[in-house]
Amino acid sequence: MDLKSLVRDIPDFPKPGILFRDITTLLRDPEGLRYTIDFLAQKCNEAGITADYIIGIESRGFIFGSPLAYKLETGFIPVRKKGKLPGAVHSIEYELEYGTDCLEVHQDGLHQGSRILIVDDLIATGGTASATAKLVQKIGCELVGFGFIIELRDLEGRKSLPDVPIISLIEY
Ligand code: 5GP
Repeated sequence: MDLKSLVRDIPDFPKPGILFRDITTLLRDPEGLRYTIDFLAQKCNEAGITADYIIGIESRGFIFGSPLAYKLETGFIPVRKKGKLPGAVHSIEYELEYGTDCLEVHQDGLHQGSRILIVDDLIATGGTASATAKLVQKIGCELVGFGFIIELRDLEGRKSLPDVPIISLIEY
């Protein structure tokens, strides 16, 4: 299936000069959605990834991470922006183009030695995924891979990630 044809390009979003890759058009396509999850699961299996938990990064990582967890028979753990999780959290600050941001995960969600697969819709510079990786490694979890629907190759985000399998389904 031509997944790329289901992604919509929106120029000048969220600010002028940015070409946004919109995955809502892929999500609303029944065959496209099913194929995306099945294909991601297949590629994880082919890469030999065995995880205890999938971590989905807020918010589009939740959309793809949850059905992948169901398919791979793992648990699902959300990593959220600061102040959204109700329980005690571990957190990590990371640099943005202007300023910093913060990601959090529940302290009782992750344990030393848990095998973690990190999922998000898209990797651009790799800043978000790399901060999430640092967060799970700080806790003592074993990072076993990354799964993305879209990879913007020119930005070389994968260079900022640890040396584990990095799966992406669509490249620009
Ligand atoms: P990075 O931290 O790798 O530079 O940016 C990746 C994060 O920004 C991801 O969480 C992703 O959801 C979001 N993002 C950045 N650009 C786009 C885009 O063009 N389309 C979508 N769907 N998400 C984007």
